[in-house]
Amino acid sequence: MSLEDNIRKVVPYIPGEQPRNKVLKLNTNECPYPPSPKVLNEMHSFDWKGLRLYPDPEMSDLIDSLASYYGVKPTEVFAGTGSDDVLSMCFLTFFAGDKPVLFPDITYSFYDVWAEVYRIPYITKELDKDFRIRAEDYMGENGGIVIANPNAPTGISSGRDLLEEIIKNNRDSVVVVDEAYIDFGGESVLPLIEDYDNLIVVRTMSKSRALAGMRIGYCFGCEKLIKYLNDVKYSVNSYTLNSPSIAAGKAAVEDEEYFREIVGKTVATRQKTAEELKELGWDVLPSDTNFLFASPPAGYDAGTIFEELKNRGIYVRHFNKKRITDHLRISMGTDEQMSIFISTIKEITGK
Ligand code: PMP
Repeated sequence: MSLEDNIRKVVPYIPGEQPRNKVLKLNTNECPYPPSPKVLNEMHSFDWKGLRLYPDPEMSDLIDSLASYYGVKPTEVFAGTGSDDVLSMCFLTFFAGDKPVLFPDITYSFYDVWAEVYRIPYITKELDKDFRIRAEDYMGENGGIVIANPNAPTGISSGRDLLEEIIKNNRDSVVVVDEAYIDFGGESVLPLIEDYDNLIVVRTMSKSRALAGMRIGYCFGCEKLIKYLNDVKYSVNSYTLNSPSIAAGKAAVEDEEYFREIVGKTVATRQKTAEELKELGWDVLPSDTNFLFASPPAGYDAGTIFEELKNRGIYVRHFNKKRITDHLRISMGTDEQMSIFISTIKEITGK
């Protein structure tokens, strides 16, 4: 026995780079627009002297406004510091059995990291050749299921019926549906929480509400599941969201008009950029998110283009992972930023 034997060792999740110099950042699916003016006003008038106090551990202001916006009870809502925190709490709370948790082979690369760090057994299920989820893969015995819908990094979503089939056939395990990108497309399974007590739907303010820096995530589920989550949360860290985040999150939920405006612009930019890439011979997967997953035409290597873009100050994401190494994930910037991206791609590929 040595000191080393007593240490929990993990291969960590690697977040996309946050470069300090001025670059065009299309690598972490942030929103290219600022947060709602209502959020900025809230921050201007915030009682900063009040920071000497702990924040409200129940985050009532935020939870109540989320509940009323989504038409659920406050007892059906849980919040955390980004959906990463919410998902991590879900892994810790709901996947405590001995059976393996199931998720796709190509999905958010944090899922296997949480499974490893919490010592949760897991099995990955191959997406089909078009990167789609097959419901039948999720019908065997399992200790829980996690599905990102729309999926990342592919951007592809599954229909509500397919997900309901999975939820319906797994009443003894919790199905966590990670809807980080749902505001940009796809069908939410949120209405199903009223029918299924084994469903958790996770959301974030990092993408469609332009608040990645505030770290606000939340999820919905039946009262019993939300209570179990809170019991674990209070056993790890009672004060997750800080007071400015609670206030900013509430203000963001209350600005529907601005939210629709920035989501609409992002979707339009996505369609335009997808067309432009296709014209250049790229294979672009259908996306319901604020990013595109695309592979360059034959004769070009995605990894090389990634490096070439980086050398020119444009950051996208390349995953050195089986099945997707020939793709790049490109977050949507403003139209102006995307035209710089497209002209740089033309320069690199000589098209
Ligand atoms: N789920 C998915 C599928 C994501 O891509 C991300 C962003 N990295 C997250 C969850 C976490 O987002 P956040 O912690 O900023 O809410």
